[in-house]
Amino acid sequence: MFKTDTDHIDQRVSTGALPDLDETLGLLREVHERYRGLDDGAVADYIPALAKVDPSLFGISACSVDGHVADVGDARHEFAIESASKAFVFALVTDALGHDAIKKRIGVNNTGLPFNSVMAIELNHGSAMNPLVNAGAISATALMPGKTPDEQWHHLLAGLSAFAGRELTLDTEVYESEMATNQRNLALARLLQSYGNFENDPTEMVDVYTRQCSLRVTAHDLAVMGATLADGGVNPVTGAHVVSPRVCRDTLAVIATSGMYERSGEWMFEIGIPAKSGVGGGIVAVAPGKGAVGTFSPPLDVAGNSVRGQYAIGHLSRSLGLNVFASAAREGMA
Ligand code: GLU
Repeated sequence: MFKTDTDHIDQRVSTGALPDLDETLGLLREVHERYRGLDDGAVADYIPALAKVDPSLFGISACSVDGHVADVGDARHEFAIESASKAFVFALVTDALGHDAIKKRIGVNNTGLPFNSVMAIELNHGSAMNPLVNAGAISATALMPGKTPDEQWHHLLAGLSAFAGRELTLDTEVYESEMATNQRNLALARLLQSYGNFENDPTEMVDVYTRQCSLRVTAHDLAVMGATLADGGVNPVTGAHVVSPRVCRDTLAVIATSGMYERSGEWMFEIGIPAKSGVGGGIVAVAPGKGAVGTFSPPLDVAGNSVRGQYAIGHLSRSLGLNVFASAAREGMA
């Protein structure tokens, strides 16, 4: 269950802009102070290199659509992007192939099952279901434009770097550690192939997917990447047009329904912001038209969502007015 302790915080409505930079920074500091001592959760250990990460690291960053970024704590500490990459790769392939093709070839429905479920594919007649579970994410990677896996990788790297507004680099230790232990991802791709739903070579595509998951980002990067999705596809810091406004809508809809693994429904109920987490400890939460928050804290709950990140975003959804469902009664009607 998502735990929140935010009933005492006034909920700002979802319209309008983020508070100014000083106020945002003050709120971020307050949230960082409040949750940095929390020691629930455990770092991911199914990927050996991730088990070595310092559990006390904690960074929060907020980026507004006008390009102001507030950073607190370890907001500039690099970590593996992992599943948070799936949202941005989905945006890139949707930009390249179009809304209808993506819906048909990958799907956009919540599986209700864990991110690496084999059963979800079997229950859905060989469909990956959505681009945020591993089967759909590997399918999305395979749809990246390019004639060779190397060309696809470079296209993907350039796209994710454009979202972040800087050249992202690979964590080779995480990549090698994941490659040595990701037999399950290979099995998922092969299962899709057995249903006729995977045209590329599964081994090559799982390699590109694993590189994608091993890219180093910071909480600051996640905030800028999320703010690009909040700003019709324009990176608010660099001004680069990364994807179209339509693609941002498509991506945020999928993140809203499936971004927090099998807890996405409860997350929307409690916190109300499209968000995507990764087992590297990152979460990116996007408030369309306003901005985004990126958090980094390695200890995860059982579904794979960063515990301090959940608390921090839960708090900020109220104090920064990020909950997309929050309105106020009209004057005189309360
Ligand atoms: N690279 C990880 C995997 O495929 C990503 C998992 C995650 O962040 O949820 O297992």
